[in-house]
Amino acid sequence: MDTVQTQICIAGAGPAGLFTALFLEKYGIACTLVDKSFFPRDKICGDGISGWVVDVLEELDTDLLLRFHRQDFLLPSYGMRFSSPRGTVLDIPFLQERKIKEIPPGYIAPRKEFDNFFIEEIKNNAKYVQLLEGKEIVEVKEESDQMHIHCRDGLRIEAEVVVLAAGAMQPFQKVFSQYRADGSNTMLGLRTYYKGVKGLHPENYIELHFLKGLNPGYLWIFPQPDGRANVGVGVAKARVLKEKKSLKKILQEAIEQNAYLAKRFEDAEVVAPFGAHPLPLFYKKLPLSGNRFLLVGDSAGLIDPFTGEGIGHAALMGKFAAQTLQQAIRQHSFSAETLRQYDEQVYKTIDKELSISKKLPGILKHDWLFNLVADRVAGSPRLQDKLAKTLSNLDERKKLKNPWHYIKHIFR
Ligand SMILES: Cc1cc2nc3c(=O)[nH]c(=O)nc-3n(C[C@H](O)[C@H](O)[C@H](O)COP(=O)(O)OP(=O)(O)OC[C@H]3O[C@@H](n4cnc5c(N)ncnc54)[C@H](O)[C@@H]3O)c2cc1C
Repeated sequence: MDTVQTQICIAGAGPAGLFTALFLEKYGIACTLVDKSFFPRDKICGDGISGWVVDVLEELDTDLLLRFHRQDFLLPSYGMRFSSPRGTVLDIPFLQERKIKEIPPGYIAPRKEFDNFFIEEIKNNAKYVQLLEGKEIVEVKEESDQMHIHCRDGLRIEAEVVVLAAGAMQPFQKVFSQYRADGSNTMLGLRTYYKGVKGLHPENYIELHFLKGLNPGYLWIFPQPDGRANVGVGVAKARVLKEKKSLKKILQEAIEQNAYLAKRFEDAEVVAPFGAHPLPLFYKKLPLSGNRFLLVGDSAGLIDPFTGEGIGHAALMGKFAAQTLQQAIRQHSFSAETLRQYDEQVYKTIDKELSISKKLPGILKHDWLFNLVADRVAGSPRLQDKLAKTLSNLDERKKLKNPWHYIKHIFR
């Protein structure tokens, strides 16, 4: 049986594993990055790359960010389009100003190309990252003061610490995570690509439509660089189970039964297979680390419960994981106590944002309230400006926690 020995093993090379590896490379720390796939590989996703990712990339390496920015597979995005259950449509620009002027607030990028860009970076330029592709991990076990990572083909990796970054609902990670998926903390997402969708915003706004009969839950349209659009629905798992309707049917009916969307899709055509995948949503603060392990990205279950965004959190957690490991190496300890600083850093940064997002579906699940808010905002440039600031600034978003804040602004 083949054995690989390494100090740090990263299990999974999606955004969480990739950013952990890239930050470790920056700090000159060796690691082994393992994935079951050979790259490039697809990943079912909406392809929306938010400002969080750009912020983390900027901190990682501005040259890498500029090289990334020049890639043909990217579309810069400058705002967000919402529609309410009544059909009020709102276009809200992102107001974020970046240090590097040419860098936009966010992007849209097919995940196959997005993930592969960083894989290529590792293959071509990394000195400290050993990448193992096509290795499916079946079990991770702590044995005699080591982590043993067992792959389906018989390879065993012996590591002092393991970064669990293999995405949502992977059985071998369950032993380490207290996240338990149920109908209320899991969303099911279905994605396909269409060509010929009309009325896309000239500045490539990402679109979230909160439709009658779909709320809480939404339909998204994210334009692609080749003129196609990534289109999908995100619906609470409990609801899918209750209604016994396929996600494909939910998506098709949502388009057909909404006059605004039906018009925009009248000449559109599905050009890719439908693919579904669960989204583990944040529901409460759970431990993110323990003796000799860290949970990073979807393995930790920290997807934003309102927007479904997870790539930004995965990138940010990758940065904090690498920083924690750097500290742990200095302290010669991968104990639960040493690694706990990771939980503190992650929650200090995204807890506020996640708690707000956790409350929003509850507030906006009432169609009448959603309609009221959307109509007031649509009729008021002052409120539109306020919302643009809120979308671009966490301190402003914090105030949404308090429903009186809305009411005050809506009825002023
Ligand atoms: C339908 C849908 C739409 C979404 N849209 C968006 C969006 O627009 N924007 C956004 O920010 N987020 C979106 N998300 C969430 C986003 O896709 C995830 O949060 C993000 O991919 C998490 O990154 P990760 O690295 O933790 O996991 P992943 O991206 O899932 O990567 C995990 C990696 O681990 C590997 N792996 C899995 N099992 C094993 C194994 N046994 N052994 C070895 N390797 C393994 C996989 O091959 C993969 O490369 C969406 C999710 C879904 C399902």
